[in-house]
Amino acid sequence: MCGVVGIWGSPKASLDVFQGLLLLQHRGQDAAGIIADDSDSGRFRLRKAMGQVSEAISAQALSELPGTSALGHTRYSTIGDVKTDDIQPLALTANVSLAGVHNGNLSNANQLRNSLRSQGRFLMTDNDLELLLHLVADGLQQNDSFEGLCQVVTRTMEQAEGGYACVMLWGARGMFAFKDPHGLRPLCLGKKDGAYALASESSALSFLGYTDQRELEAGELVWIDETGKLHSKKLKDVNKKSCFFEWVYFAGAESRMDHMGVYEARLRLGIALAKKIQAAKGIPEIDVVAPVPDTSRPAAAAIAEELRLPYREVLLKNRYVQRSFIMNGQEKRKQAVGLKFSVVEEQVRGKNVLLVDDSIVRGTTSRRLVELLKSHGAKSVVFASTCPPITHPCHYGIDFPTGKELIAHGRSIEAVKSELECDGLIYADLSDLSSGIGSDNLCLACLSGDYPYAIEAQA
Ligand code: 5GP
Ligand code: SF4
Ligand code: MG
Repeated sequence: MCGVVGIWGSPKASLDVFQGLLLLQHRGQDAAGIIADDSDSGRFRLRKAMGQVSEAISAQALSELPGTSALGHTRYSTIGDVKTDDIQPLALTANVSLAGVHNGNLSNANQLRNSLRSQGRFLMTDNDLELLLHLVADGLQQNDSFEGLCQVVTRTMEQAEGGYACVMLWGARGMFAFKDPHGLRPLCLGKKDGAYALASESSALSFLGYTDQRELEAGELVWIDETGKLHSKKLKDVNKKSCFFEWVYFAGAESRMDHMGVYEARLRLGIALAKKIQAAKGIPEIDVVAPVPDTSRPAAAAIAEELRLPYREVLLKNRYVQRSFIMNGQEKRKQAVGLKFSVVEEQVRGKNVLLVDDSIVRGTTSRRLVELLKSHGAKSVVFASTCPPITHPCHYGIDFPTGKELIAHGRSIEAVKSELECDGLIYADLSDLSSGIGSDNLCLACLSGDYPYAIEAQA
């Protein structure tokens, strides 16, 4: 998962993009980049590097990105190691001038890559965005109208399967953006004094003062043309399937996604989970409810309220250690969990603790935390997850790529409980997700194995 920002028509476009990216930093920390359309020289200017946004883009680099439109990206590697070539934005300048950023993953990338190569194309990166840029650039003429652009993007959607939310700068012709036909990935549009902005999350747009915000629809294309006129059209009409994991984990709690505030969704997931905890048999009587910081705080607070139990922050997070999940490689992740949390022992000793997390993926964090609380004197630890068991890989951009890495893959809840060595394990139900998020139009493929887009055999 990544964060994208696109700005059109602002005198300080690259600064806006930079600040927007800072607000989307939680969506990826491997690398960042900004491309600006310098209309005076008719050039794209690009700065990108490994690291977090403020490391990758220095003040000097920012001052070298003039122009009134710009795109930015903060990267979270889902495929292999991070390579400098793969850092976004990417640009093609052969027939049409096209620069782009995207969030997501194509589930037929290998097939598309082979097909482009068989047409004699050389590809510069392993990034799916390059494929999307080629597909779009192929049919696009510099003098196309909105109808022409619609045809090109429709053809792209027919060829590219998977989850993607893309923003592209089309030379002097403006900025356009589109989402895959099921609309798996978030992308929000806002307006300010004749300028337009697109961002993965509403929090970035709000900070920058963009109002009239709305989520792009599944399969929708929007184009802000060179005169500043907004065109939009839904190019495909299939079932919307937003990724539920945005509400559960990925998005910032202050953002609104679609119809629902993320914080509110997390509160509602907590309330549903409290009901299950109340009805659970054979678990110790809870003394204290504790979140695994930070994502699960609203859910844990709601559970404590519902169950009329004390809420305590017994785990303190070392803010200088990266999110463990985002660190690539299992060994690095294991070490990171130990460095990441400290325990407030007097709030734990002799207590039955209900530990609430948003999700259990590989189980690395949960197992280590149970062990940590017990080593600080907890009498028992019951684990509660606002996400039902994750049993299948995601092929659309979240980093749980193989089934066997997932602790709940092929295991019963009882078996997961014994792996985690906890005294009780309570997962939210699938139906809690739909009601908590307030939508039946969710992708739930990693919970059910029911994938909205076909998966390549070798994936
Ligand atoms: P586990 O240790 O079970 O592999 O991962 C679960 C923990 O990682 C939870 O605390 C959850 O907040 C976090 N997490 C879940 N999904 C993701 C993700 O896609 N990226 C990152 N960075 N963290 C995640
Ligand atoms: Fe999101 Fe899971 Fe669907 Fe991937 S498979 S897009 S993580 S809901
Ligand atoms: Mg967490």
